[in-house]
Amino acid sequence: MTSLTKKEHIVVVGGGFAGLNAIKALNKEKYDITLIDRNNFHSFPPLFYQIASSGLDSGSISFPFRRETRKMENVKFQMGEVRNVDTTAKTITTQFETLNYDKLIISAGTTNNFFGMNNLLETVYTLKSTAEAIRLKNEILDRLERASLCKDASHRRELLSFVVIGAGPTGVEVAGALGEMKRYILQREYPEINKDDISITLIEGTDRVLRTMSKEASQKAYEYLGHLMVDVVLEKTMTKYENNVATLSDGKEIYCETLVWTAGITGEKIEGFAKETFGPGNRFIVDQYNRVKGYNDIYALGDIAFLTSDEFQRGYPQMAQVAIQQAINLARNLNGESFKKPFSYKDKGSMATVGRNRAVADLNHLHLYGRPAWLTWMFIHLISLLGMRNKINVLINWVWAYFTYSTSLRLLVHTAKYPLRRRWDELGH
Ligand SMILES: Cc1cc2nc3c(=O)[nH]c(=O)nc-3n(C[C@H](O)[C@H](O)[C@H](O)COP(=O)(O)OP(=O)(O)OC[C@H]3O[C@@H](n4cnc5c(N)ncnc54)[C@H](O)[C@@H]3O)c2cc1C
Repeated sequence: MTSLTKKEHIVVVGGGFAGLNAIKALNKEKYDITLIDRNNFHSFPPLFYQIASSGLDSGSISFPFRRETRKMENVKFQMGEVRNVDTTAKTITTQFETLNYDKLIISAGTTNNFFGMNNLLETVYTLKSTAEAIRLKNEILDRLERASLCKDASHRRELLSFVVIGAGPTGVEVAGALGEMKRYILQREYPEINKDDISITLIEGTDRVLRTMSKEASQKAYEYLGHLMVDVVLEKTMTKYENNVATLSDGKEIYCETLVWTAGITGEKIEGFAKETFGPGNRFIVDQYNRVKGYNDIYALGDIAFLTSDEFQRGYPQMAQVAIQQAINLARNLNGESFKKPFSYKDKGSMATVGRNRAVADLNHLHLYGRPAWLTWMFIHLISLLGMRNKINVLINWVWAYFTYSTSLRLLVHTAKYPLRRRWDELGH
């Protein structure tokens, strides 16, 4: 692909916020582009917790890559999971094929990090992909249905014991959604279950929830979680989870049958690079132009890129805005004759929602709480979603749920691919 008559071929691995924005901004007259993703759709992680809590269906926050790429000339999509890069031959390999590249953009994001507690891989619930969110949703619904049939109060409480590890935005949002279920939804939809049958505990290693946000936002979120009957345990980490018992760093044990892990992430593993290429969290070390250390034709963007600055000495935050801004900056540099513009980050702030009318937003000098923050949160997420149909769908769902507290999405559809939960008859129920 390197002859003078042909355009250079850019392969983009991962069509998340970074990959997709890079493709949109790249000059299609200068480059042929192939997008490779393990899924055939773009997903929207900030709303995964809404899938898990039956607030939205997965289709409303996903968008097929082929629908997006068919609008762009010289861009094609191929599904596959990239496992290996041969940097000498300039090829990437998926489970289906090997592909040549002239330039490679790696934007494969991150996956869960269990910090060596490998049994968690099989015993806990996570929220790093649409499939994981659906799996958690099914588990919650399955437990509610079983608890509603259960005559034994102590067994009912065991069935409905939830612990969420990590009080960053994802942990707070999941715990808040479970709290809303306990406080508002249970009575209407599962009258057989008592509110006190459900326990929700949120565990955080530092001294406050949402520690990357302002102290006021943390305090407000803490109060909101209290209103939603979530027990928050601070300054404790989980050291072990075995036989449905979570052991904390102070030795305390909490019985919980559903443990949601949101406490750690690590870069997706792609083989073929020297050890020195990776920084903390298995992220590719990049320079201020997002070029991977040691290579002039390979770039990394977003969550999987490790770039430091005076302000962010431990790396830029793994957030959507960083991914989007890096992608656009890299595309502009690649579109030009040479790399002129180093990456500079415009922090647009951060926000988290704990439930209906309960959210916090730090938008530079503006700090919002409660309903104003919640409306802002909804607006920003709506405009960020891909596809008009998705935006309308989500808006209708939210408005409907706001007035009725009800959603038609609490459907328990067992998929054959995830037989983790044994069937009721096998369990002797
Ligand atoms: C539950 C949750 C909530 C979040 N909430 C917020 C929020 O409110 N605000 C915010 O700013 N950020 C939030 N984030 C973080 C934000 O989603 C990430 O920073 C952002 O998605 C990073 O973009 P990315 O393109 O680097 O990676 P991703 O968006 O993760 O995209 C990676 C893509 O690569 C694909 N992929 C991965 N490995 C391979 C492979 N080997 N081969 C092929 N394809 C591969 C994946 O399928 C995916 O499509 C949240 C994250 C999660 C998980």
